[in-house]
Amino acid sequence: MKNKPKLQNPRGTFDILPPNSYIWKHIQNNLSNIAELFGYSPIATPIIEDSRLFARGVGEVTDIVEKETYTFQDRGGDLLSLRPEGTAPICRSYLQNGMHNLPQPIRLYYNGPFFRYDRPQAGRYRQLHQFGAELIGDSSSTTDVEIIQLAWNILHSLGIKNIKLLINSIGDSNCRANYINHLKKYLTEHINLLSHKECINRLETNPLRILDCKNESCINLTQNAPTSIDFLCEDCQGHWNKTKSLLGDLAIQYNVDTTLVRGLDYYTKTVFEIVPDTEGQQNTLAAGGRYDGLIEQLGGSSTPAVGFAMGIERTIEIMQTQNLLDTPKIAKKLTIAHVGEEASQYAMQLAQSFRQKSIVTIVAPRNRSLKSQLRFANSILSSHVVIIGESEIHNQTLLLRNLNTKEQQELDIKSAINQISK
Ligand code: ATP
Ligand code: MG
Repeated sequence: MKNKPKLQNPRGTFDILPPNSYIWKHIQNNLSNIAELFGYSPIATPIIEDSRLFARGVGEVTDIVEKETYTFQDRGGDLLSLRPEGTAPICRSYLQNGMHNLPQPIRLYYNGPFFRYDRPQAGRYRQLHQFGAELIGDSSSTTDVEIIQLAWNILHSLGIKNIKLLINSIGDSNCRANYINHLKKYLTEHINLLSHKECINRLETNPLRILDCKNESCINLTQNAPTSIDFLCEDCQGHWNKTKSLLGDLAIQYNVDTTLVRGLDYYTKTVFEIVPDTEGQQNTLAAGGRYDGLIEQLGGSSTPAVGFAMGIERTIEIMQTQNLLDTPKIAKKLTIAHVGEEASQYAMQLAQSFRQKSIVTIVAPRNRSLKSQLRFANSILSSHVVIIGESEIHNQTLLLRNLNTKEQQELDIKSAINQISK
């Protein structure tokens, strides 16, 4: 093209084109199949939600709500947001649809686009795609481990190697306040070493988030900070020990990372991430944890829950670096070439007979010479061509040409179907 077209896709978004779109489809099918093997059902919630859902459900002092959410007023004056994540909408739906009255726990999975005004770069987009699962209504550590096992199995099923599981426990409403006081005290004592402005503010608003800051001065400072696992109450300690021993039973290796946090009140106990096992790489593939306080925060009664979300773009990127993306196999394709007006009409009916037998069938473009239609069939990598004209319609036959062997036969439809399906 001479000039770049004026209209381009927005920054931080991309088109998923064939043949890559088949890779996406394959991966998404694979993830759904595994989630369903674990007994999870698909759920889909709207792309737009009341903005207040995210302020409450994702937390006013998170990156997402502070600076990443796309929020707008619609023509009726309602303040809406494009969903930046999947957990809060699912909890809204759980409450709104009375899922708490169904047998608990509820197991749900989702897959779809999310929107964040992030700085576009490798592994970071403004329209991103996540696959995730939520297990709502069970407080046992076995469910934390089930969610981790699901995320772990999914990444392994795609053949991804060299990944590691990081886990931590951030306690609950009984013990976290005490821990945060100790953390705050430590950070305040060393405030002269804290050069990162954003984190100086976080000292008041959300000190836990300083632990997970990627700024060098913060990393240095937090290395010797008190850790949440040293402050767990009896219940959280028991849950933490059980979670680790269950992971051990399943031979899922983990590293305890005491700087792994979720900066919000409703996150409790287990938090985890699955990351590439490469030094210095920040691209978390999947992240999750227990959020026993969220449903209550959204107006329901206290309901334990645990879940995770994985980024599809980052998953595909790591698969690419590990050479795991095969060019998708192109299905056997039949093109119907037609000569004359009557045949081009009949081609539509004939195509239907092949499709009913699961043969991928395309009718060649109208008003072109037979030669040009055959060229078209070759260009779209058809395996077979059926040629019909007046006499074939009259005799209820067709000419079948195998484009690989160049063999051509006159057959009835049934025999043609058998030949192509071979
Ligand atoms: P990060 O620290 O990388 O910003 P996050 O804590 O914002 O990640 P979560 O909200 O936990 O990420 O989302 C779960 C997963 O979704 C991440 O582990 C990542 O794989 C993916 N993800 C998050 N933000 C983006 C983005 N802007 N573009 C692509 N993938 C993303
Ligand atoms: Mg982020």
